[in-house]
Amino acid sequence: MSQHYPKKRFSQVFLADKNMVRRMVGLLDAGANDTIFEIGSGRGTLTELIAATGARLFSFEIDRDLIDNLKNKFLKFDKVSIINKDFLETDPAAYYNGRFKLIGNIPYDITSPLLDWMIQYQNLIELAVITTQKELGQRISSGPGSKNWAPISIFCQAIFDVEIALTIPPEAFFPPPKIFSSALVFRPTNKYVINDKIGFEKIVRQSFLFRRKKLTNNLGLLPGMEKEDIEKRLTELGLDKNCRAEQLSIEDFIRLSNKLKL
Ligand code: SAH
Repeated sequence: MSQHYPKKRFSQVFLADKNMVRRMVGLLDAGANDTIFEIGSGRGTLTELIAATGARLFSFEIDRDLIDNLKNKFLKFDKVSIINKDFLETDPAAYYNGRFKLIGNIPYDITSPLLDWMIQYQNLIELAVITTQKELGQRISSGPGSKNWAPISIFCQAIFDVEIALTIPPEAFFPPPKIFSSALVFRPTNKYVINDKIGFEKIVRQSFLFRRKKLTNNLGLLPGMEKEDIEKRLTELGLDKNCRAEQLSIEDFIRLSNKLKL
Protein backbone atom coordinates (compact mmCIF):
# COMPACT_ATOMS: atom_id res chain seq x y z
CA MET A 1 0.00 0.00 0.00
CA SER A 2 1.39 3.41 -0.90
CA GLN A 3 1.71 5.89 1.95
CA HIS A 4 -1.33 7.98 2.73
CA TYR A 5 -1.17 10.36 5.64
CA PRO A 6 -4.41 11.45 7.33
CA LYS A 7 -5.46 14.77 5.83
CA LYS A 8 -6.67 17.67 7.93
CA ARG A 9 -8.64 19.08 5.03
CA PHE A 10 -11.03 16.12 5.03
CA SER A 11 -10.86 15.74 8.84
CA GLN A 12 -9.54 12.23 8.43
CA VAL A 13 -9.71 10.41 11.74
CA PHE A 14 -9.63 6.70 11.13
CA LEU A 15 -11.26 4.22 13.47
CA ALA A 16 -8.37 1.94 14.36
CA ASP A 17 -9.65 -0.13 17.30
CA LYS A 18 -10.79 -3.42 15.73
CA ASN A 19 -13.28 -4.10 18.49
CA MET A 20 -14.94 -0.70 18.03
CA VAL A 21 -15.07 -1.24 14.27
CA ARG A 22 -16.76 -4.58 14.83
CA ARG A 23 -19.27 -3.15 17.27
CA MET A 24 -20.07 -0.19 15.04
CA VAL A 25 -20.66 -2.36 11.96
CA GLY A 26 -22.63 -4.79 14.16
CA LEU A 27 -25.14 -1.99 14.85
CA LEU A 28 -26.08 -2.06 11.17
CA ASP A 29 -27.34 -5.61 11.55
CA ALA A 30 -26.57 -6.09 7.87
CA GLY A 31 -27.18 -9.17 5.78
CA ALA A 32 -27.12 -10.26 2.15
CA ASN A 33 -30.50 -8.66 1.44
CA ASP A 34 -29.48 -5.22 2.65
CA THR A 35 -28.26 -2.25 0.67
CA ILE A 36 -25.83 -0.02 2.54
CA PHE A 37 -24.44 3.45 1.82
CA GLU A 38 -21.19 4.25 3.59
CA ILE A 39 -19.98 7.83 4.03
CA GLY A 40 -16.19 8.17 4.02
CA SER A 41 -14.51 4.82 3.28
CA GLY A 42 -11.12 6.11 4.42
CA ARG A 43 -8.78 3.12 4.40
CA GLY A 44 -11.70 0.75 4.16
CA THR A 45 -11.74 -0.46 7.75
CA LEU A 46 -15.51 -0.39 8.19
CA THR A 47 -16.00 -1.16 4.51
CA GLU A 48 -14.24 -4.49 4.92
CA LEU A 49 -16.56 -5.73 7.65
CA ILE A 50 -19.66 -4.46 5.87
CA ALA A 51 -18.54 -6.25 2.69
CA ALA A 52 -18.17 -9.45 4.73
CA THR A 53 -21.90 -9.35 5.58
CA GLY A 54 -22.69 -9.94 1.90
CA ALA A 55 -24.75 -6.74 1.67
CA ARG A 56 -24.82 -4.57 -1.46
CA LEU A 57 -22.53 -1.68 -0.56
CA PHE A 58 -22.01 1.77 -2.06
CA SER A 59 -19.05 3.29 -0.27
CA PHE A 60 -18.33 7.00 -0.85
CA GLU A 61 -14.94 8.61 -0.39
CA ILE A 62 -14.27 12.24 -1.30
CA ASP A 63 -10.44 12.02 -1.18
CA ARG A 64 -9.11 10.99 -4.60
CA ASP A 65 -5.80 9.85 -3.10
CA LEU A 66 -7.51 7.03 -1.21
CA ILE A 67 -9.46 5.68 -4.15
CA ASP A 68 -6.87 3.46 -5.90
CA ASN A 69 -6.10 1.53 -2.75
CA LEU A 70 -9.78 1.16 -1.95
CA LYS A 71 -10.63 -0.03 -5.46
CA ASN A 72 -7.83 -2.61 -5.34
CA LYS A 73 -8.83 -3.79 -1.93
CA PHE A 74 -12.43 -4.45 -2.96
CA LEU A 75 -11.85 -5.65 -6.51
CA LYS A 76 -12.94 -9.16 -5.60
CA PHE A 77 -16.23 -8.06 -4.09
CA ASP A 78 -18.76 -7.67 -6.86
CA LYS A 79 -21.38 -6.30 -4.43
CA VAL A 80 -19.10 -3.43 -3.32
CA SER A 81 -18.81 -0.17 -5.28
CA ILE A 82 -16.24 2.44 -4.30
CA ILE A 83 -17.40 5.88 -5.40
CA ASN A 84 -15.16 8.94 -5.47
CA LYS A 85 -17.77 11.58 -4.69
CA ASP A 86 -18.97 13.99 -2.06
CA PHE A 87 -21.72 12.01 -0.37
CA LEU A 88 -23.58 15.16 0.64
CA GLU A 89 -24.09 15.96 -3.05
CA THR A 90 -25.37 12.49 -3.78
CA ASP A 91 -28.90 11.53 -4.73
CA PRO A 92 -29.22 7.91 -3.58
CA ALA A 93 -31.73 7.16 -6.35
CA ALA A 94 -28.85 7.46 -8.83
CA TYR A 95 -27.47 4.22 -7.31
CA TYR A 96 -30.35 2.32 -5.82
CA ASN A 97 -34.12 2.39 -5.94
CA GLY A 98 -35.37 1.44 -2.53
CA ARG A 99 -34.74 1.67 1.16
CA PHE A 100 -31.21 1.40 2.47
CA LYS A 101 -29.08 1.55 5.59
CA LEU A 102 -26.52 4.25 6.19
CA ILE A 103 -23.22 4.11 8.07
CA GLY A 104 -20.37 6.55 8.56
CA ASN A 105 -17.54 7.37 10.86
CA ILE A 106 -17.80 10.89 9.55
CA PRO A 107 -15.81 14.09 9.98
CA TYR A 108 -17.57 16.19 12.60
CA ASP A 109 -17.82 19.21 10.36
CA ILE A 110 -20.28 17.35 8.15
CA THR A 111 -22.62 16.19 10.93
CA SER A 112 -25.16 18.98 10.42
CA PRO A 113 -25.26 18.77 6.62
CA LEU A 114 -25.52 14.98 6.88
CA LEU A 115 -28.49 15.29 9.26
CA ASP A 116 -30.11 17.62 6.72
CA TRP A 117 -29.43 14.98 4.04
CA MET A 118 -31.03 12.32 6.24
CA ILE A 119 -34.08 14.49 6.79
CA GLN A 120 -34.35 15.08 3.04
CA TYR A 121 -34.19 11.35 2.23
CA GLN A 122 -35.97 10.16 5.39
CA ASN A 123 -38.40 7.92 3.53
CA LEU A 124 -35.55 5.88 2.08
CA ILE A 125 -33.61 5.33 5.29
CA GLU A 126 -34.15 2.06 7.11
CA LEU A 127 -31.49 2.64 9.74
CA ALA A 128 -28.45 4.87 10.18
CA VAL A 129 -25.32 4.42 12.29
CA ILE A 130 -23.35 7.65 12.51
CA THR A 131 -20.53 8.87 14.73
CA THR A 132 -20.76 12.30 16.30
CA GLN A 133 -18.87 14.31 18.82
CA LYS A 134 -20.11 13.01 22.19
CA GLU A 135 -21.74 16.28 23.28
CA LEU A 136 -23.58 16.65 20.00
CA GLY A 137 -24.78 13.03 20.33
CA GLN A 138 -26.20 13.88 23.75
CA ARG A 139 -27.91 16.92 22.30
CA ILE A 140 -29.46 15.04 19.38
CA SER A 141 -30.75 12.24 21.60
CA SER A 142 -31.90 14.31 24.60
CA GLY A 143 -35.50 14.93 25.64
CA PRO A 144 -37.72 17.84 26.75
CA GLY A 145 -36.79 19.41 30.07
CA SER A 146 -33.09 18.87 29.43
CA LYS A 147 -30.67 21.73 28.78
CA ASN A 148 -29.61 19.77 25.70
CA TRP A 149 -33.09 19.80 24.15
CA ALA A 150 -32.69 21.95 21.04
CA PRO A 151 -34.03 22.42 17.49
CA ILE A 152 -31.59 19.79 16.20
CA SER A 153 -32.94 17.21 18.70
CA ILE A 154 -36.50 18.05 17.75
CA PHE A 155 -35.99 17.90 13.98
CA CYS A 156 -34.13 14.58 14.22
CA GLN A 157 -36.51 12.97 16.69
CA ALA A 158 -39.60 14.08 14.80
CA ILE A 159 -38.46 11.53 12.20
CA PHE A 160 -36.12 9.09 13.93
CA ASP A 161 -35.79 7.41 17.28
CA VAL A 162 -32.23 8.25 18.24
CA GLU A 163 -30.12 6.14 20.56
CA ILE A 164 -26.53 6.55 21.77
CA ALA A 165 -25.30 3.04 21.09
CA LEU A 166 -21.56 3.35 21.69
CA THR A 167 -19.18 5.75 23.38
CA ILE A 168 -15.83 5.77 21.59
CA PRO A 169 -12.71 7.04 23.40
CA PRO A 170 -10.09 9.14 21.56
CA GLU A 171 -7.50 6.34 21.56
CA ALA A 172 -9.75 4.20 19.35
CA PHE A 173 -8.91 6.56 16.47
CA PHE A 174 -5.83 7.39 14.47
CA PRO A 175 -4.79 10.11 14.90
CA PRO A 176 -6.52 10.38 18.30
CA PRO A 177 -8.80 13.43 18.49
CA LYS A 178 -9.07 15.51 21.67
CA ILE A 179 -12.68 14.57 22.24
CA PHE A 180 -14.88 11.57 22.92
CA SER A 181 -17.24 10.33 20.22
CA SER A 182 -20.51 8.45 20.13
CA ALA A 183 -22.05 6.14 17.61
CA LEU A 184 -25.72 7.03 17.25
CA VAL A 185 -28.38 4.75 15.81
CA PHE A 186 -31.32 6.37 13.98
CA ARG A 187 -34.48 4.35 13.40
CA PRO A 188 -37.45 5.79 11.52
CA THR A 189 -40.46 6.46 13.70
CA ASN A 190 -44.07 7.10 12.75
CA LYS A 191 -44.93 8.77 16.03
CA TYR A 192 -45.56 12.21 14.60
CA VAL A 193 -47.55 13.70 11.76
CA ILE A 194 -46.51 17.20 10.77
CA ASN A 195 -48.72 18.72 8.13
CA ASP A 196 -47.05 22.09 7.83
CA LYS A 197 -43.34 21.29 8.04
CA ILE A 198 -42.21 24.82 7.22
CA GLY A 199 -44.41 26.41 9.88
CA PHE A 200 -43.31 23.80 12.41
CA GLU A 201 -39.62 24.46 11.70
CA LYS A 202 -40.11 28.18 11.97
CA ILE A 203 -41.93 27.94 15.32
CA VAL A 204 -39.31 25.61 16.78
CA ARG A 205 -36.35 27.76 15.70
CA GLN A 206 -38.00 30.96 16.88
CA SER A 207 -39.00 29.41 20.22
CA PHE A 208 -35.36 28.60 21.00
CA LEU A 209 -33.98 31.92 19.77
CA PHE A 210 -33.23 33.09 23.30
CA ARG A 211 -33.25 29.95 25.40
CA ARG A 212 -33.74 31.76 28.71
CA LYS A 213 -36.59 33.92 27.52
CA LYS A 214 -40.18 32.87 27.85
CA LEU A 215 -41.66 31.22 24.78
CA THR A 216 -44.16 34.05 24.39
CA ASN A 217 -41.34 36.60 24.23
CA ASN A 218 -39.47 34.68 21.52
CA LEU A 219 -42.55 34.02 19.41
CA GLY A 220 -43.81 37.56 20.02
CA LEU A 221 -40.83 38.83 18.01
CA LEU A 222 -42.30 37.36 14.84
CA PRO A 223 -44.15 39.88 12.67
CA GLY A 224 -47.88 39.78 13.22
CA MET A 225 -47.67 37.74 16.43
CA GLU A 226 -49.34 39.15 19.52
CA LYS A 227 -48.06 38.03 22.89
CA GLU A 228 -51.61 37.84 24.30
CA ASP A 229 -52.70 35.63 21.43
CA ILE A 230 -49.78 33.24 21.99
CA GLU A 231 -50.56 33.10 25.71
CA LYS A 232 -54.16 32.23 24.91
CA ARG A 233 -53.07 29.42 22.57
CA LEU A 234 -50.68 28.00 25.14
CA THR A 235 -53.42 27.94 27.75
CA GLU A 236 -55.80 26.24 25.29
CA LEU A 237 -53.17 23.56 24.80
CA GLY A 238 -52.89 23.05 28.56
CA LEU A 239 -49.41 24.59 28.66
CA ASP A 240 -48.06 27.12 31.11
CA LYS A 241 -48.13 30.57 29.51
CA ASN A 242 -44.79 31.36 31.19
CA CYS A 243 -43.07 28.26 29.80
CA ARG A 244 -39.71 28.17 28.03
CA ALA A 245 -39.02 26.34 24.80
CA GLU A 246 -36.98 23.58 26.41
CA GLN A 247 -40.04 22.39 28.39
CA LEU A 248 -42.09 21.59 25.28
CA SER A 249 -42.25 18.14 23.70
CA ILE A 250 -42.32 17.51 19.95
CA GLU A 251 -46.07 16.87 20.25
CA ASP A 252 -46.50 20.26 21.99
CA PHE A 253 -44.63 22.04 19.18
CA ILE A 254 -46.73 20.29 16.54
CA ARG A 255 -49.97 21.28 18.29
CA LEU A 256 -48.75 24.82 18.82
CA SER A 257 -47.70 25.28 15.21
CA ASN A 258 -51.08 23.92 14.05
CA LYS A 259 -52.79 26.58 16.16
CA LEU A 260 -50.54 29.50 15.30
CA LYS A 261 -50.53 28.76 11.56
CA LEU A 262 -47.55 30.73 10.30
N1 SAH B 1 -14.60 5.15 7.80
C1 SAH B 1 -13.15 5.31 7.89
C2 SAH B 1 -12.70 6.74 7.63
C3 SAH B 1 -13.07 7.77 8.65
S1 SAH B 1 -12.36 9.36 8.36
C4 SAH B 1 -12.68 4.85 9.25
O1 SAH B 1 -13.47 4.81 10.18
O2 SAH B 1 -11.50 4.56 9.39
C5 SAH B 1 -13.64 10.13 7.43
C6 SAH B 1 -13.51 9.90 5.95
O3 SAH B 1 -14.57 10.60 5.29
C7 SAH B 1 -12.23 10.44 5.34
O4 SAH B 1 -11.61 9.44 4.59
C8 SAH B 1 -12.68 11.63 4.48
O5 SAH B 1 -11.86 11.82 3.36
C9 SAH B 1 -14.08 11.20 4.12
N2 SAH B 1 -15.02 12.30 3.77
C10 SAH B 1 -15.05 13.54 4.33
N3 SAH B 1 -16.08 14.25 3.82
C11 SAH B 1 -16.71 13.44 2.92
C12 SAH B 1 -17.84 13.60 2.04
N4 SAH B 1 -18.52 14.75 2.02
N5 SAH B 1 -18.19 12.57 1.23
C13 SAH B 1 -17.50 11.40 1.26
N6 SAH B 1 -16.42 11.19 2.06
C14 SAH B 1 -16.04 12.19 2.89
